Amino acid sequence: MTQTMPTLLDLAELKQLVRTVPDFPKDGIQFRDITTLIGSGPGFSSTIGHLAQQASERGAQAIAGMEARGFIFGAAVAARLGLPFISVRKPGKLPVPTIGVDYALEYGTDRLEIDPDSVHGDQRVVIVDDLIATGGTAEAAVKLLRMAGGTVEHALFVIDLPDLGGSQLLDHAGISVASLMQFEGD
Ligand code: AMP
Repeated sequence: MTQTMPTLLDLAELKQLVRTVPDFPKDGIQFRDITTLIGSGPGFSSTIGHLAQQASERGAQAIAGMEARGFIFGAAVAARLGLPFISVRKPGKLPVPTIGVDYALEYGTDRLEIDPDSVHGDQRVVIVDDLIATGGTAEAAVKLLRMAGGTVEHALFVIDLPDLGGSQLLDHAGISVASLMQFEGD
């Protein structure tokens, strides 16, 4: 059976595929749910196409994605470009000695870990994740990838919530941020 290439949807069409769920996981939060975006064949493929083009324009030599939703988009972008994928993991998942960074959440702290050998030399690593809110998760990933020797200057997101200031936080860390769509508010 031959497979035809899916239609490339534009960014406005992709935005319509994101489902907004009010008051999840708690009152007052508008949860931007990518389940419906990746649940559309043309939607998922077009999202990866747009991200892959941006990663390529930024000279990516490897793509890093954060567990769990960053794996969906980051791994697909890496495969589309034929680049290595670096998995940035939640604590205790990797079977080898790791390096880790703790970072603040709204309540408490969290931690990200990588296998330091997953970054090769000063390779240009582009970060890909589903959504940037405060930027805390991405900032921790930047620190970690730089600790491992990577050159990290760019982060790409499907969704930006600009009112939460994540891109400014990353800007201060020398990272340029690009996103396929933005939603006002939090
Ligand atoms: P932050 O570290 O604040 O930038 O938060 C980043 C992560 O939190 C993203 O990778 C999302 O998975 C998740 N997240 C934060 N806010 C939302 C939201 N309003 N809707 C969906 N996911 C969110």
